[in-house]
Amino acid sequence: MHLTFTEKHTKNVGLCIDIDRQIYSAQSRFQRIDIFETPEFGRILTLDGFLMLTEKDEFIYHEMIVHVPLAVHPNAESILIIGGGDGGAVRELCRYDTVRHIDLVEIDEDVVAACKEYLPDVSCRLDDPRVTVHYEDGLRFIRRFTDHYDVIIVDSTDPFGPGEGLFTKEFYGNCYKALKADGILVNQHENPFYPDDALSVRQIHKRIVQSFPLSKLYQAHIPTYPSGHWLFGFSSKKHHPVNGMDAGRWNALGIKTRYYNTNLHKAAFALPTYVEDIIKDVEDADISRL
Ligand code: SAM
Repeated sequence: MHLTFTEKHTKNVGLCIDIDRQIYSAQSRFQRIDIFETPEFGRILTLDGFLMLTEKDEFIYHEMIVHVPLAVHPNAESILIIGGGDGGAVRELCRYDTVRHIDLVEIDEDVVAACKEYLPDVSCRLDDPRVTVHYEDGLRFIRRFTDHYDVIIVDSTDPFGPGEGLFTKEFYGNCYKALKADGILVNQHENPFYPDDALSVRQIHKRIVQSFPLSKLYQAHIPTYPSGHWLFGFSSKKHHPVNGMDAGRWNALGIKTRYYNTNLHKAAFALPTYVEDIIKDVEDADISRL
C-alpha cells in the first residue's frame, strides 16, 4: 500500500510526501492534529491538513524566527511567543543564557501534548524552568500587557482558523503596546510567490506598518512550505534589523546553528525585486539603509 500526504498550495499545485505510517491523529477543540512518519522528512506535523513542520527542515524556520531578533536586541530577557506549541522556537531561545523568562501562549493544549510525546527533538525545552506555557488565545492574552516584553515572536498558523486574529491591526497594535521602548516583534509572514499568498503578505505588512515605526521583511528557504520561499516580518520601536545587528556579540555567544549566521542575517533582508514590488507602496522602503 502506498500512502501519501498532499497539501495543495494552489488549486493547481501541491506538495506530496510519501508516508510510512500515521503516528497520531486527534480532533482537538480547535483543529485536527496529525503526525506522520515519512521516509524523506522524518516525522511531520499537520494541523487541519496543513503542514506545520517536518523534522528535517524545521531548523530553518525556528532558527530564523529566533536568532534574527536575538542578534539585534542587545539584552533580550523577557520573551513572548504566540503559537509555537511544537516548542521549536522555545528550543532556540533556551540557548541564550541571557533569556530569563519565556511566556508561550498556545491556544491548543493538545498540540503541545502531541509534540511532547512524538516530536521530542523539537519540544525538548518546553520544560525549561524559564518557560511558562499559557493555554489561551494570543489575541486575548496580549491585551493585558504594557511595556513588558523585549521580544515578541508570533509563530502562528496561517491567517484563517484559530490563527486569523493574529493577523489583525488590533493584534499588532497590542503587540506594540506590550513591547518595551526598544522591543522587537517578529512574525511568520507567509510566502510571496503565489498570488493569493502575495496578497496576504501585502495585507499583513500594511497592518504592521500602521503600528510600528520600523518594519522590514526578511526571507528564508524552507523546502516544505508553499513555493519554498518564506517571509518573516521584523518590526521594531528602535533597533534596525541590519544596522542594529552586532555580529561580534552574537558570534561570541558560540551558539551553533545550521542555517542562521550573521552574514546570512544581513543578506536575508535584501529582497528579490518582485517581493519589493509587492510591498513597495506599503512601507517607506529605503533599501540603501540596509
Ligand atoms: N511553523 C508553523 C507554520 O508556520 O506553519 C507554525 C507552527 S505552530 C504549530 C502554530 C501554532 O499556533 C499551532 O499550534 C496553533 O494551535 C497555534 N495558534 C493558532 N492560533 C492561535 C491563537 N489565536 N493563539 C495562540 N496560538 C494559536
